[in-house]
Amino acid sequence: MIVAMQEKATEEQIDAVIDVMVESGVNVHRTTGATQSILAGVGPTASLDLSKFEVLPGVLYVHRISSPYKLAGRGFRPEGTVVEFSNGVKLGGERVLAMAGPCSIENRAQIFETAQRVKAAGGTFLRGGAFKPRSSPYAFQGMGIPGLELMREAADAHGLLVVSEVMEIAQIEPMLALVDCFQVGARNMQNFNLLRELGQVRKPVLLKRGIAATIEELLLSSEYILSGGNYDVILCERGIRTYETATRNTMDISAIPVVKKLSHLPIVADPSHGTGRRDMVAPMARAAVAAGADAIIVEVHPNADKAASDAAQTLYLDQFDKLMAQLRLIATAVGRTI
Ligand code: PEP
Ligand code: MN
Repeated sequence: MIVAMQEKATEEQIDAVIDVMVESGVNVHRTTGATQSILAGVGPTASLDLSKFEVLPGVLYVHRISSPYKLAGRGFRPEGTVVEFSNGVKLGGERVLAMAGPCSIENRAQIFETAQRVKAAGGTFLRGGAFKPRSSPYAFQGMGIPGLELMREAADAHGLLVVSEVMEIAQIEPMLALVDCFQVGARNMQNFNLLRELGQVRKPVLLKRGIAATIEELLLSSEYILSGGNYDVILCERGIRTYETATRNTMDISAIPVVKKLSHLPIVADPSHGTGRRDMVAPMARAAVAAGADAIIVEVHPNADKAASDAAQTLYLDQFDKLMAQLRLIATAVGRTI
């Protein structure tokens, strides 16, 4: 259930409503927007008589939520979520952000050169995997924490934020001081134990859509994180598996406006994994920004052809420069900045 408070509702009135909700056996999640507070009640609300909430002082309206995701739904934060990072960078607002970096962190020279070029082109995040979910156990598995330490150093040297994939609960603690945003990969979108644990963390989470997941399943997965009290969840469309074989995955651009309608969470587009092909990354990145994506995440590498993983979809650094110039025009055309 959603209880929307009136603009002029006092703190005492809000507390009183929360008390009645708790007494009725529901967990309360509060969000304070620009103009009003919204209280989401999660639990056995089907049998509750909502009129007892409607008459409480300060209440504007009460809705029963029929969708299976209560906290990820638009109604919880009608104005949309803006995730603010430690350096003041905001994701989900007017500015479209760019996250870029190699699929895998490989060595110091690679990550430092990448960081310098990503920053110079106007990127805000350095991406790079230290723990890699590879389809084959014999493929490069990533550098682990020493790799992340290198990426942190490179990002700090160039004023960038760090996003990197966490594959299991035991990695959360050692990664905490090294990343600004945890990435949950497509293969882990339904690793519910990991998601629950990330709900306890107070650091943003970029949740990628599973290879065969519906948008509803993506939103339900985000609910695992949100219900733990971590409201800084960012969704990511990275292509889904279809019967089409011309591209590695099928980049579902329409997921962007669908998510915008159904949810308040920001959405990022990953055209690298979405297409699997270097020559198709820029067109899909442009389409994603035009469709309303809040950020793009792309793979770039100083020696892209020789990248240890995902070489075929990794942009040359010059291609990233060009892409950023194009995205600037598109962002302006849709009333945003980059
Ligand atoms: C990645 O970002 O390198 C990655 C493994 O992505 P995904 O989980 O979308 O396959
Ligand atoms: Mn990759």
